[in-house]
Amino acid sequence: MSIQVNDRAARLADPVDVAIQVNDRAARLADPVDVAIRLRPPEHAGIAERFDASDPTPGLDVARNPHVARLLHNRKFQFLMILPNQIVFWTVIFVGLLGTAVPGLNFGAAITWYVWFCLVFVMMVVAGRAWCAMCPFGGFAEWVQRRTFWQRTQKTLSLGRKFPEGLAQFGFVLPVVTFLLLTWIEEYFNIAGPGNPASTSFMVIGIVASALIFFLVFERRTFCRYICPLTSLIGTVGSMGMVAGFRTRDREVCLSCKTKDCMRGGDQGFGCPWYTWPASADSNLYCGLCTECYKSCPEENIGLFLQKPFTSVVAPRRRRADVAWAIALLWGLVLYQQINFTNAYNSLDSWLNGHLHIPHYPNPVGYLGLIAILTLVTAGVTRSIGALCARRDVAFKQAGNFAERGSRFRAYFVPIAYGLIPVVGADYFARQLPKFFKSSPRVVPAVQHMFGAAGVHSWLYNARLLSDPRIVTTQVAVIALGTVAALWATWRITTRELIPVSRSALAVRVTTSGLVIVCGAAAAVLYVAMQAAN
Ligand code: SF4
Ligand code: SF4
Ligand code: SF4
Repeated sequence: MSIQVNDRAARLADPVDVAIQVNDRAARLADPVDVAIRLRPPEHAGIAERFDASDPTPGLDVARNPHVARLLHNRKFQFLMILPNQIVFWTVIFVGLLGTAVPGLNFGAAITWYVWFCLVFVMMVVAGRAWCAMCPFGGFAEWVQRRTFWQRTQKTLSLGRKFPEGLAQFGFVLPVVTFLLLTWIEEYFNIAGPGNPASTSFMVIGIVASALIFFLVFERRTFCRYICPLTSLIGTVGSMGMVAGFRTRDREVCLSCKTKDCMRGGDQGFGCPWYTWPASADSNLYCGLCTECYKSCPEENIGLFLQKPFTSVVAPRRRRADVAWAIALLWGLVLYQQINFTNAYNSLDSWLNGHLHIPHYPNPVGYLGLIAILTLVTAGVTRSIGALCARRDVAFKQAGNFAERGSRFRAYFVPIAYGLIPVVGADYFARQLPKFFKSSPRVVPAVQHMFGAAGVHSWLYNARLLSDPRIVTTQVAVIALGTVAALWATWRITTRELIPVSRSALAVRVTTSGLVIVCGAAAAVLYVAMQAAN
């Protein structure tokens, strides 16, 4: 649960807030943490309904292992996770600025664009937000904000502002907007081509500077939760992962806990930087695996739980409209990045550029317009499924607040969008494969080049891991796997959430499964058409 109780989206999404006295709006706005812990007498009714489905399996608590427990209690643990990436990250910046202008031979450009994203993606699929636990952007800014590398400090170097409620309600959609902006900049300046290695450095500097500003102005990891361009992608795709995150071992203990140190911070640990209450989390969306709650809970009531793959896609009962829109937008973006290789799109882009006096691809109107169309078409199909299948005797609410999902459209759109996560994730991964298979061996001569050895004539510089036809086959196979996983997830979600509100189980199954198959087929056909283009 979010402890930022002025975050209406989180409150609406989170029934544990029933236990929280949030009547005093002024007080809430002034100090949400204080109010969040001003509890009513513990409420025990409805616990099973709220927590049962996604409660982590106790046997999968790896923190029960004494060696793991010792490691997680160690305050240097996250510092040591971040440190190696921090070294690579500053190397990327300096080598990008000062090293060779040959992109494939420049370590900064080569490691970032040939290898990094693929590695991060594998981490997401396996372990959720594992990257966030070792991320140099957030890590660096947090060191500055806390004025320490690992100690538990009380005073921070930050204005500690709260993120405006009006913006916070858009949750995962905001960072998709920053991701769209970053992607457009990257395409416009051909940063990921890779083009001029200095551009990669400037992009990385831009991200870390933004993170630093947000950490210095706002409290905790506001940047990570609401702004970071990667957070929506990592959060949604990471929900396929097998790490459920840090959750409580016994929620009854939490309901009567007076201190809520996991949220406020205790002697041994900071309050959750991601505004998550481990007792109410029903997915791994917002657990940055930072271990602070584990350290701070005086009751030793926090564990690190594993889960079956896709659990955080299928199991959550408190689905969120902002997450669903984020998935639809991310789907629109990755499809755009395939369609932009077609001659038809290139003609359109040139035509728009001619009229709008934009020097070259990508035309911002074409870019945003096509992504918006693809997003709205996806949402529109779910609306049609609702119109076709919804029971007439179910009284759906009027569409209200952004975060509510009572309307007929949202009752179908939100769960169906969650079901699409595996195919969206597979598409992002497949999109990175040509660069990885064609050019990742270049990282070795790029490292050697930093020390004055190797060059473009190194055999590794010209080596590739797969031929073009095999890359296409691999991309199609990845999409096929993602589609099968999405079909399975959609089947489970439909059974639990859509059939009860639909007139015909067969109709809703056929239409939701059909949407998944069409999405997977569209991505696969486009990969065949692209012929392993970068
Ligand atoms: S949300 Fe972004 S900045 Fe924060 S830890 Fe994750 S990747 Fe890093
Ligand atoms: S996790 Fe620990 S500190 Fe947090 S509410 Fe539960 S018992 Fe209290
Ligand atoms: S590990 Fe605990 S403190 Fe850290 S983000 Fe996850 S829930 Fe919050």
